[in-house]
Amino acid sequence: MSREAVNEYRHEKAPSNILRRLHDRVKLDPGKHGETEPGALLTIKVRKNRSLVMSLSTCMDCGACLTVCPAYLTTRNIRNSPLGRITLAKSMMERRINDDVINEAYTYFWQCLTCRRCTWACPFGVDVADITRTIRSILYELNLVPSYVAGVIDNLESTGNFLGFPEDVLKELIINAVNEIRLEKGVDVRVKVNEAAYALLLPSACADYTIALNTFKGYVLLLNELGMDFTLSTRAPDITNYGLFMDERHMRLIAERIVEEARRLGVKLVIAGECGHGWRVFKNYVIPRLREYGIEGTHIIYIAAEAIKRNLVRFNASLNDDATYIYMDPCHYARGGDLVKEPRFVLRSVVSRYMELNEKPELAICCGGTSGMLAKEMEELSTKYAELWYQGVINKGANCIVVPCAACKLQMDRILPKLNKLHERKITFTGLMDLVYKVIIPRKTTKISPYPNHEDLT
Ligand code: SF4
Ligand code: SF4
Repeated sequence: MSREAVNEYRHEKAPSNILRRLHDRVKLDPGKHGETEPGALLTIKVRKNRSLVMSLSTCMDCGACLTVCPAYLTTRNIRNSPLGRITLAKSMMERRINDDVINEAYTYFWQCLTCRRCTWACPFGVDVADITRTIRSILYELNLVPSYVAGVIDNLESTGNFLGFPEDVLKELIINAVNEIRLEKGVDVRVKVNEAAYALLLPSACADYTIALNTFKGYVLLLNELGMDFTLSTRAPDITNYGLFMDERHMRLIAERIVEEARRLGVKLVIAGECGHGWRVFKNYVIPRLREYGIEGTHIIYIAAEAIKRNLVRFNASLNDDATYIYMDPCHYARGGDLVKEPRFVLRSVVSRYMELNEKPELAICCGGTSGMLAKEMEELSTKYAELWYQGVINKGANCIVVPCAACKLQMDRILPKLNKLHERKITFTGLMDLVYKVIIPRKTTKISPYPNHEDLT
């Protein structure tokens, strides 16, 4: 591959002050490699990683993954494809590389959505997203990280939330949501903040407290209707975890904050809000850690599905008759997140007209905004990625996309106005709990039990 073919989209690199903070937190010393040049260091680190070497050796270059990769399908750039990334990683493993190859690696491993669509198509089960994450982690040791991703991780580690909101701002946002519920639903909901309770509710602060407040109101109203004693935390207010996209050490650090807060508050249950990649970390790392302390973890959608099945909430589905909805699986719910049937059950229960974007959930199309692609400088490329699902929505004739994921919502918020203008459409989006919120007919009084037996709901 010649250098000229490297495309024009590249993440701005993180400044040294943020990198120093991140390195310090995980006790990483990039200076310890002394005079070893970056190309040689990369080759050493790639060769040392046995699981990476194994994955690279398993790939047969058959190209089956090309037919499903959203990055390749929309850009037709072979370097921006699973096979292109594998070829690049192999060249890093096989020979000492120069600055051009390092530049290429930074460019294309950060253009991958880590959506794992290719993994489902690969006859040998090669997980290119995993290869991407490993190479990114090695690049991080060479100080090569997108500024946007480093900034989000820094916020999550210093404040516990994606946008770096101070605690008093979070409290204001919560009060605002409670006031809106009173006005819209005529009911006073009870919300604890930083108090002992049966459950800790973990929203996606970046979306649920900003552009998707109705999602948050859906969590709160549902839990109130169920009489569940729950609290929010301003110290660990966010399920998002960008450590997953860059470096496992940071993923663990961010996740441990939630475990610590759950223990400090003495809860028995932690409830995840709508977030695809956050759920992946929560399900695979946070829940096993919580269980070490006798605490359980679940997703709000599981609770909503059980509540509907058992007629524990009153609702009127005709209140969602104003649109034809289309369900778009978040990548990390559909591929390895085991959150496929319940969102569909909830959606079928609370709307009359609904269709599927993906014929097979395991081949769900990524929104194009995850894994660092929400960075401003990547908006143009991210819009190309988004054309894939947008065309699917047009073809199916729906006018409102249902996406129970914070990253998808942030992506739709910035991309849909542009695409709608281009295609002269008025397609909108919503979270799933927003739709639950709209249809609930609240009871006027709900008895909150301090120690209710909610285990069977989770
Ligand atoms: S993880 Fe997604 S974006 Fe990355 S190579 Fe695979 S299919 Fe393409
Ligand atoms: S489908 Fe699998 S084996 Fe074939 S090129 Fe892609 S990663 Fe390699």
